[in-house]
Amino acid sequence: MVLTHRDDVADHVRWAKALECERWIHKSDSDAAPEAENQVIGKKGLLLGRALQLIPVPGHTEGSMVAVLGDQQQIMFSGDHLWWNDKKQVLVASKKYCWWNWSEQLKSVKRLFDFDITWLLPGHGQAHQFASGEWKKALAQTLRYADKIISIVQG
Ligand SMILES: [Zn+2]
Repeated sequence: MVLTHRDDVADHVRWAKALECERWIHKSDSDAAPEAENQVIGKKGLLLGRALQLIPVPGHTEGSMVAVLGDQQQIMFSGDHLWWNDKKQVLVASKKYCWWNWSEQLKSVKRLFDFDITWLLPGHGQAHQFASGEWKKALAQTLRYADKIISIVQG
């Protein structure tokens, strides 16, 4: 079981027992689930088995991670790092809901250009399917929007 970050760990003890599985959480958020058997440390991604990668994306919280699943790394569980706004048709990284460090969160968004995600499964809201190549375009749009906001604030 992957705990993407400190906010969304409710009932992890019950789930771990029911599923008879071990838990992973990032060390920086591990005080929220000290019972977790395994920790990811630092910013380096970790491959579990052949098809599950845990990638630290500090920002929303210091220990936020995304989990990328699939033999072609095409399915991303994004926690609260990113989600899809269906009404506006944009990938959202939210400054309003950033609890730790916004500039680090934007750096973490940039680190996800290496993927070509087909399915985004966020902690809140709906799953979203991307056509091939659309993931990178959506990330670029999200970062352009964030830059625009920063330049308006800084004048
Ligand atoms: Zn959260």
